[in-house]
Amino acid sequence: PTLPEKIDYVFKVVVIGDSAVGKTQLLSRFTQNEFCYDSKSTIGVEFQTRTITLQGKLVKAQIWDTAGQERAVTSAYYRGALGAMVVYDITKRVSFDHVARWVEDLRAHADDSAVIMLVGNKADLAADKRAVTTEDAVEFAETHRLFFSEVSALSGGNVDAAFFRLLEEIFSRV
Ligand code: GDP
Ligand code: MG
Repeated sequence: PTLPEKIDYVFKVVVIGDSAVGKTQLLSRFTQNEFCYDSKSTIGVEFQTRTITLQGKLVKAQIWDTAGQERAVTSAYYRGALGAMVVYDITKRVSFDHVARWVEDLRAHADDSAVIMLVGNKADLAADKRAVTTEDAVEFAETHRLFFSEVSALSGGNVDAAFFRLLEEIFSRV
């Protein structure tokens, strides 16, 4: 029998960004190591969790999903968030153009100390369909003081690394 875990910290992290950039699949990849090909834009699921160990402490990452309500994200969604992932799709320029608005929304509603990571998803499509260069994204991230990573929820590439980078940064500040 497994003993109940004694959680040392719970970190709320919100995932934001335009519809269809892959937010729900990123969560599913990070929390269950799954990718669901025929996922609908499911409404209702608020967050998923994964417990990790950081420097010998058990940290429960509580990752919030907009759950198909991208147009109606409320201040309650941001409340108490220690970190955020602002996601765009590297094959959809407009989703990157909207990142600035998502960062503004976040800064208006979340705590000033929230750690923010810019995430370019669908890196598996980079060879044929890339519409946002890595250089443009790096420049945006540096200007706005964000961490940055390109990932693929489909292949799983860099997904854990990006979440761990964010969670480690939050951990270093608590
Ligand atoms: P959300 O609206 O931001 O939650 O986006 P979803 O997670 O529902 O994904 C939107 C669509 O993009 C779905 O058809 C996914 O299968 C697809 N998708 C998500 N992540 C990836 C990825 O990393 N690579 C590719 N090729 N497709 C992805
Ligand atoms: Mg979704």
